[in-house]
Amino acid sequence: MSSPPPSLQFMQRRLAVLEKRHLYRRLKTISDGTKPWLDLSGRRLLNLSSNNYLGLATHPVVASAAATPSESGGGAGASRLITGTFDLHQQLETRLARFKQAEAALLFTSGYTANIGVIPALVGPGDVVLGDELNHASLIDGCRLSRAEFLTYPHCNMAVLEEQLAQAQQSGRRRRLAVTDTVFSMDGDIAPLAEMAALCRRYDAMLFIDEAHATGCLGPGGRGLAAQLGLEEDVTVSMSTFSKALGGFGAFIVGDNLVIEYLINTARSFIFTTALPPAVIATALAALDVLEQEPDRVEQLQSLGTFFRSGLQDLGFDTLTSATHIVPVLVGESEIALAMAAALQEEGVYAVAIRPPTVPLGTARLRASVMASHTRDDLAFALDAFAKVGRRLGLLT
Ligand SMILES: *Cc1c(COP(=O)(O)O)cnc(C)c1O
Repeated sequence: MSSPPPSLQFMQRRLAVLEKRHLYRRLKTISDGTKPWLDLSGRRLLNLSSNNYLGLATHPVVASAAATPSESGGGAGASRLITGTFDLHQQLETRLARFKQAEAALLFTSGYTANIGVIPALVGPGDVVLGDELNHASLIDGCRLSRAEFLTYPHCNMAVLEEQLAQAQQSGRRRRLAVTDTVFSMDGDIAPLAEMAALCRRYDAMLFIDEAHATGCLGPGGRGLAAQLGLEEDVTVSMSTFSKALGGFGAFIVGDNLVIEYLINTARSFIFTTALPPAVIATALAALDVLEQEPDRVEQLQSLGTFFRSGLQDLGFDTLTSATHIVPVLVGESEIALAMAAALQEEGVYAVAIRPPTVPLGTARLRASVMASHTRDDLAFALDAFAKVGRRLGLLT
């Protein structure tokens, strides 16, 4: 690399530090990364690293909706509040409200932009926002951007959340908001949503949930954790993405009419961005069609998740508190996680090492996620590979 100008030398120094700490990241081109088996430099590898949980990204109905020319053209041409609200957007929002059994729905460009727009619309200076320490980065960024006082509580610790809520009420905070992933993205465990909802009711707080890894995966018809627990009415705003189990792109929130009307008028990442293109909307509608017509995919995902998780546990791996199709294998140090990922690749399995800052220091891990499009044989093959590699690296006795 040629020497950069002095003003950019900090970048080189930072990258060198990352490299030394085994935290350097590189992009890899994987064009069939949504399929159960992928091709990496000519090798066929079992794909345990896609969030295409239901296999919908490559479902013929979904894929053909994504590729169908639309009368409405390539892009929406304006933000939703200007000329960017088409029939298609409204059709999809009506459909989503029905799917989530909520009064109304609102589309966002992505889960990331939904989270950084909605949270600052709900709380601001003088308020307090409380989040699980393992919440997704987009939720953390939303909390920070809000300029409300932002406190985290230990993972799923409802006693601490209660103290924080009580304190916020006593100190006369104008508004209180609690924020959580429902299925945690790197741990695959489930938030104690019933307890959380009860606390929010008791302390007159709003509740924001991120169902990115739950919608399509949990609950009746894949409607998510709130639906599974019958807590839809207790949630102020529920966010889901099209980008994971629904195999597309974009995101949506659901809530009461009042909440949605308020957010149309106040969420900056809704107001100041171009509406989703027609092809993206058509893809999402097709994914909902398939989900409705093939609800078995949800059960398939859950049963494969259980098969794989208990297989890893039987081998002696630490899968933390995973209870879903997302199964972490705790390793500890980043260097070992990288070595394990490389060794798994040698055995024909693609599972990426997840390192800080995505997860807390000292908790580097392999994150494996199952897809409904995997077979039991695929996962048995993966379990063999994990067993071999675990023994070789001294992680299993
Ligand atoms: C992936 C993810 C997001 C971001 O969604 P995108 O649509 O990919 O921007 C938000 N929250 C959680 C928990 C996620 O896993």
